[in-house]
Amino acid sequence: MTKTPATRQPADAPLVVAHQIRKSFGDNEVLRGVDLTVDTGTVTVIIGPSGSGKTTLLRSLNALEIPDSGTVRIGDVEVDFGSVGHGRRLGRADRRTLAELRAQSGMVFQEHNLFPHKTALENVTEGPRITQHRPEQEVRAEATQLLADVGLADQADKYPHQLSGGQKQRVGIARALAMRPAVVLFDEPTSALDPELVGDVLAVIKDLAAGGRTMVIVTHEIEFARQVGDQVVFVDGGVIVERGTPAEVIGKPQQDRTRGFLRRIL
Ligand code: ADP
Repeated sequence: MTKTPATRQPADAPLVVAHQIRKSFGDNEVLRGVDLTVDTGTVTVIIGPSGSGKTTLLRSLNALEIPDSGTVRIGDVEVDFGSVGHGRRLGRADRRTLAELRAQSGMVFQEHNLFPHKTALENVTEGPRITQHRPEQEVRAEATQLLADVGLADQADKYPHQLSGGQKQRVGIARALAMRPAVVLFDEPTSALDPELVGDVLAVIKDLAAGGRTMVIVTHEIEFARQVGDQVVFVDGGVIVERGTPAEVIGKPQQDRTRGFLRRIL
């Protein structure tokens, strides 16, 4: 793996560019040369059948999965995964490079993965305090505001077991934002929630979209994709079959595979 020398990107360059991402698990070729571009301040929604590679693509953007080849650039940090061997141990330089790329994005998982013995506020302050070494007071003030932004101003001192699934997921969102990422990545953020809790979490994501956050969201919520997406990307069999605005991809799909998927899901 090599880190391409940092080059200052022009102001209108896309924030995220993934180029020819390939990833196999054993014989299973999960991503077959995927290109993805995300502009600053836009929302990209990734849809597609189960097992099509959506999560692997999302995780490749912040190297939680290390692609076999391809490049990912976020902001001024670009990583070429081409030279990394399958399953090879990463050297120190590689790990530093990956850490730089990871710092560019925040991930919201299907399950919130909060620390059970820390309050909502402590969960949000942990990363900026420990990883970013930012001043305690500033971090607390920002975390308090972020909890208010996700509608949890009065829950800051609660522990995860005292919160509903939707509230925990919203703490997870605040926690990701606290790291001040350039882009927030959501991996099916509502699929583990009871149906009545889904709306609150989607509303928070919609607010973030309205506020100009750059986000990439894997979801099965097609209506939500239609409402919040600037770009919808339909993935099937490890390739991007179709991409465009929601009106294009969901409203007037051009490909049979997209039409078939939407018929099954809608
Ligand atoms: P989707 O998000 O579209 O449901 P995924 O990216 O999760 O698809 O998975 C795509 C394929 O990759 C599936 O066949 C899945 O079983 C496989 N896969 C994903 N992660 C791993 C892993 N860590 N090890 C082995 N196979 C995996």
